[in-house]
Amino acid sequence: MRDFILIAGPCAVESLDEIVGIGKSVRGSGATHLRYMLYKPRTRSDAFQGVGDVGLEWAEEVKERTGLALVTEVLDPRDVEKVSNYADVIQIGSRNASNAALIREVGNVSSEKNMKVILKRGMYHTLSEWEGSFGYLGMEKSNVWMCERGIRTSTSLDHSRNVLDIGAICVLKDKGYTVIVDPSHGTGKRELVERVAIAALSGGIDGLEVEVHFDPIHAFSDPDQAIIPSEFDHLVRNIEKIREIYLS
Ligand code: PEP
Ligand code: MN
Repeated sequence: MRDFILIAGPCAVESLDEIVGIGKSVRGSGATHLRYMLYKPRTRSDAFQGVGDVGLEWAEEVKERTGLALVTEVLDPRDVEKVSNYADVIQIGSRNASNAALIREVGNVSSEKNMKVILKRGMYHTLSEWEGSFGYLGMEKSNVWMCERGIRTSTSLDHSRNVLDIGAICVLKDKGYTVIVDPSHGTGKRELVERVAIAALSGGIDGLEVEVHFDPIHAFSDPDQAIIPSEFDHLVRNIEKIREIYLS
């Protein structure tokens, strides 16, 4: 799909074979980038924390065999330089979206190396707080992909993990930001992913980031929200059709 950022892959890298398999599959559907998450920001210390540094050793092979650029989240300012030697795009996740030390370091390294950055919205961020975090990067709007991934509300919900804020997407687009949307963390429910992604297209978004896994219920993290490759393909085909209408 022309001029559309399409990032797909599992919540976390689980093994070399698994990530290459998913990468090849989502590339076949039109993905431009692979979610290559090695360090997971987990709420609980006893949950799977990611494969860690060993994944950096696999990175060249994964890029070569899948043909995709890699998106990797960093959690620790001390890892930024190291990860930038392997990943193509660095992600700052929702839990670190107010971590000025990390954001500054990602901004410095990415500017130096001319890399793109994904800055997710903090789960309680107002729009102006999110823009405030963007400021710590010291980067141009065109080099930062602001990722709307839903916010928590004062009402606890059982139908959706977060509330995806389509109004925020529109306001950021009007202000000239590059905006992508994560309907996977935005909903936490695989059956909602495609429809919420399509709703977000109305805001004129620049891309999507979607969790895809061969066997979601056995995924090491976020088993309720990953879609399978055939569902991802279905989503991409529908996005293509809708974008054609919007862009024509
Ligand atoms: C992720 O994209 O891997 C992630 C942890 O999402 P978020 O930071 O939006 O919770
Ligand atoms: Mn996840």
